[in-house]
Amino acid sequence: MPRATRLSLRGALLYREERIGWAVMTKAKKRVGVVGATGLVGQRVIHMLRDHPYFEVSALAASDRSEGKAFADACKWKLPFEMPKAVAGMKVHACAPPLDCDVVIASLPSDIAVEAEAAFATAGYAVISNSSAYRMHADVPLVVPEINPDHLDLIPGQRQRRGYKNGFIITNPNCTVIALVLALAPLAQRFGLEAVIVTSMQAISGAGYPGVPSIDITDNVLPFIGGEEEKVETEPQKILGRLVVDRIEAAPFKVSAQCNRVNVQDGHLESVRVKLSRKPSIDEFSEALASFTGLPQELRLPTAPERPVIVRTEEDRPQPRLDRDAENGMATVVGRISKDSVLDFKFTLIGHNTVRGAAGAALLNAELLFSRNLL
Ligand code: NAP
Repeated sequence: MPRATRLSLRGALLYREERIGWAVMTKAKKRVGVVGATGLVGQRVIHMLRDHPYFEVSALAASDRSEGKAFADACKWKLPFEMPKAVAGMKVHACAPPLDCDVVIASLPSDIAVEAEAAFATAGYAVISNSSAYRMHADVPLVVPEINPDHLDLIPGQRQRRGYKNGFIITNPNCTVIALVLALAPLAQRFGLEAVIVTSMQAISGAGYPGVPSIDITDNVLPFIGGEEEKVETEPQKILGRLVVDRIEAAPFKVSAQCNRVNVQDGHLESVRVKLSRKPSIDEFSEALASFTGLPQELRLPTAPERPVIVRTEEDRPQPRLDRDAENGMATVVGRISKDSVLDFKFTLIGHNTVRGAAGAALLNAELLFSRNLL
């Protein structure tokens, strides 16, 4: 392509991106109700919403242990950042409508989420959920904006089927799954994915607060996390599945997962093996991962990482302490890529479980909805 044409195409693309950005910026900020605000994920949501260009926190909700208290009194703040002043004095409400907000970001235990999230959607709220309660329901989008933003098209059918007039529920994946699918998506797109074997080493914060008793996890590894392997073995196929009219046709590969809890504060490390339909070279394999981007990067959504997948070549990376905060905790960091003698390739990855694995995933979904005028 002649250089002048290349430049003008790039100019047109930048102009389009600027226009999208400008259109989004001129909309009024939407008011967010942080439900499950006192938990580890809720706290991350609050932290990530400070000074946000599209959203502001307008309401907080948690259990009846916290209800009626000022947030600063109800919440054991666990982040290494100051609690935003704007929320410290806010009163904590019950996890039920009405709540003074336009959209709910919910981070509740899944058994509580079943009723609470449906009640909010029925009352007309857009609900963005971190829990597993509705993830695998056929009419509920399970969205990673870089991979399957088109799955939001399930919303009209969901509203019709469940009788939600203006409300709806969308979900983001389990924290181990999201780090994994960001790496699987480019491989599936380029080479075809036939099988995945994954062994996770999951951080303590993945169990919430107070979470795993210190006496169980100190000097130890726990080889069982209730319900986790089932999620890791089923959610990727829905996310990488195809939208066919008003349902998702699951992608046809199998996943075998073994999940362990390890004595690390944040960041889930995963050892992954994959079988591919087409056999690339190691360089092609690495390039497919490193060059992966999607709609959030095209739209320049505020929380989108510039590089959703980072490939490192040092022999001893990725590591939780050194790599979990890459791209503000929004990237999957992959390393130790090599050919595998049983399947085709093996590698190690890490993702920050409470950022990209939860709060950041929900926020990126909120930004996607906002940019598509679904909020
Ligand atoms: P957490 O630290 O235990 O926080 C739970 C939150 O839910 C708190 O705000 C708590 O309020 C509230 N809550 C508990 N019982 C309730 C009840 N009966 N009624 C109303 N509210 C209640 O848990 P978390 O780690 O933030 O996880 C929240 C959700 O996100 C879970 O579904 C979890 O599986 C999912 N998730 C977590 C991670 C992670 O890395 N931690 C990653 C992905 C997804 P009080 O403080 O008032 O008790």
